[in-house]
Amino acid sequence: MEDENTSTIGVDLGGTKIEVAQVNISGQVLRRKRLPTRVNEGPAAIQSEIAETVLELQKQADTMPIGIGIGVAGQVDPVSGVVHFAMNLGWRDVPIRDVLSEALRLPVFVTNDVRAATWGEWVHGAGQGCDDLICLFVGTGIGGGVVSGGHLLTGCSNTAGELGHMVVDLHGPLCNCGNRGCMEALAGGWAIARSAREAVENNPSAGSVLLQEAGGNPERISAATVARAVRKGDPLALKLIESATEALVSGAVGLINAFNPCRLILGGGVIEGLPELVDRIDRGVRQRALAAASAPLQILPSQLGNQAVAIGAAIMAMRELTVKDPD
Ligand SMILES: [Zn+2]
Repeated sequence: MEDENTSTIGVDLGGTKIEVAQVNISGQVLRRKRLPTRVNEGPAAIQSEIAETVLELQKQADTMPIGIGIGVAGQVDPVSGVVHFAMNLGWRDVPIRDVLSEALRLPVFVTNDVRAATWGEWVHGAGQGCDDLICLFVGTGIGGGVVSGGHLLTGCSNTAGELGHMVVDLHGPLCNCGNRGCMEALAGGWAIARSAREAVENNPSAGSVLLQEAGGNPERISAATVARAVRKGDPLALKLIESATEALVSGAVGLINAFNPCRLILGGGVIEGLPELVDRIDRGVRQRALAAASAPLQILPSQLGNQAVAIGAAIMAMRELTVKDPD
């Protein structure tokens, strides 16, 4: 029934930007549009902006997309299509699937952003042809997905993939989840920024390069600021990234020993800002993971970059609509 002209729309709905892309069955982006997320205007305005953007892409298209997939930065229920909680959007219990399918008269599928990105990397990115892989996305937070035996794991209550909340330091710093020492609390973008601010406050002279990169305002220090200071060889920034890398290695070792993937795919803003982390994590993992688990392992950077969520969400919708007997 489907041919190479079959396409779906993928939407990456994040706290700062929305990416809408029409993607064909081969994973090629046919057309796309990016817009800022006007969080202050609330869910209704954002949903109508998404609907308008989809209509705009449809007008340019030769063939109509058959459905829409949405990857949301938050907790979603894929069965009801409701976004239960999205911190960066300030959303609670928003029935985005029903709103958009009514507005656009197309089937809509909802998942979270990192799971969509895992689909993208698995089917059309660095995970192609591999049935056992883990994607670890290190952005502001840390999340990912585990594909085992050709299945993307969802878990008992659909929360599988919260890889960032694996504890790597029993007495480590407090995490947003309430626990201590999560990988995210040591190596997520927000945690790198927090450690950098603390270090600058404790020792302003050692922190002079970081402070300068942040325009003199410690509140403006972000993970990207730290990455820029690393480029300049700043010893404090190098030390901060060294300790974040150790946390990522510990987390990766746990995942590799637990799931024995053939590939570990690393993506997200922190990795994109410091691509050398891929090799450093690779070296650390080979020293510390069980030899039988790490021998066949490949560690690769993500291929789809910041388009992974939109492409993955589109693929997920395509699969729901064209695979007759999933799993
Ligand atoms: Zn946590």
